[in-house]
Amino acid sequence: MRVPLIAGNWKMHMTRPEARELVRGIKSRLMGKEIRAQVGLAPPFTALETVANEIADTNWILVGQNAFWEEKGAFTGEISFGMLAEVGCKMVILGHSERRHIFGESDQWVGKKVQACLQWGLVPIVCVGETLDERESGLTLKVVERQLEGALGGLEENAAGEFVIAYEPVWAIGTGRTATPEQAQEVQAMVRDWLRRRFSPMRASRTRILYGGSVKPENIRELMECPDIDGALVGGASLDALGFAKIVEEGDRAAREGGK
Ligand code: PEP
Repeated sequence: MRVPLIAGNWKMHMTRPEARELVRGIKSRLMGKEIRAQVGLAPPFTALETVANEIADTNWILVGQNAFWEEKGAFTGEISFGMLAEVGCKMVILGHSERRHIFGESDQWVGKKVQACLQWGLVPIVCVGETLDERESGLTLKVVERQLEGALGGLEENAAGEFVIAYEPVWAIGTGRTATPEQAQEVQAMVRDWLRRRFSPMRASRTRILYGGSVKPENIRELMECPDIDGALVGGASLDALGFAKIVEEGDRAAREGGK
């Protein structure tokens, strides 16, 4: 049984007072409700400690948005996995399309980050996804498989800890254009099949594969009804307390009703 995970990626938004208000807003909506899904929050680095304090009385998970693989040193502007662990992070988003496309992160870089992340006992949320050009050229599965190989192909089944994969078609991120459940399911099923071939049937059946790309309260249910969607990575809609809380509630309900 895979416990659904719904994580909010706040990107470069939220000062500390804004972060505090947002967490309190989400909590006021969700506290006391029976939610089985794991809730993750990925604030910018400057608000990590604030959010850690605000969620100390919950079982929610603090998530880093990125990190560098070295432990320490002359890497101006970077932050290490150890630093994220020390402030309370349990998971780290790696290979997000904005890191790949704006900051030029390669598949090989993502792979090195995944290795370092696991060595620190943190769970990487590995993002993969094709551009619109790649989709229209019929390259979606090939691109996603190449990204999976780059990020996870260097791991041995026995040595690898837990990781999460997020399928995020680039054309659906921040555009309001969500993949249809059929489009998402097709790729997510391929990812699970890749896990089975590359690692083991056990790894494939227990690894959570999230969908990301314009997830909103109105579409989370149909996405969560897909057999290979185990949760969501939510960008824009996670900045609104009520909207994010609704995504968690609806996503959790859809998962339970679907026997997930
Ligand atoms: C994201 O950045 O991971 C994302 C899915 O963004 P949005 O929900 O805004 O499309």
